[in-house]
Amino acid sequence: MKTDISGYSELSTTGVYILFLHVSKETVLNVGWLGTQKFPKGYYIYTGSALGKGSTNLKHRLARHQRKQKQLFWHIDYLLANKNVTIEKTVAAETTKKLECTINCYLKTLADTTIPVNGFGASDCKNTCQSHLLYFPELTSTDFLVQKLDIYLKSLTDVFPVVIID
Ligand SMILES: [Zn+2]
Repeated sequence: MKTDISGYSELSTTGVYILFLHVSKETVLNVGWLGTQKFPKGYYIYTGSALGKGSTNLKHRLARHQRKQKQLFWHIDYLLANKNVTIEKTVAAETTKKLECTINCYLKTLADTTIPVNGFGASDCKNTCQSHLLYFPELTSTDFLVQKLDIYLKSLTDVFPVVIID
């Protein structure tokens, strides 16, 4: 994934983002209040939103996720800070709507998925997601899911543009 996303001027407002993650080997780590958790090898998808202005906008949030060195605050920070974890792709879309639960539910329908850690990234979830991090144990590539997600996001109203960052 690109470490410099300053060129993505279209991501300078609020929006939703989906991180396609790969964990290279089984990893046990501390996830703040969730305690010690085990993450099996394989592909994960995390859905989040950045609905603030300025330093908390979409572009800054994505840049933050790419840095290994930072104060660990959100659940996802603990996972991304680990050396076994890489962001393979990011799909981001400008929107002012709170869409992360809707998108998370949609992603669950695309392939066999399990909840790796109950409550992960879902502290302020108003739905029944259980987790905004999904694990896809059977997946060998994320290409298909990225394509489906791109089409799905473009079908939603008030979501534009959709940007895929390798
Ligand atoms: Zn949710």
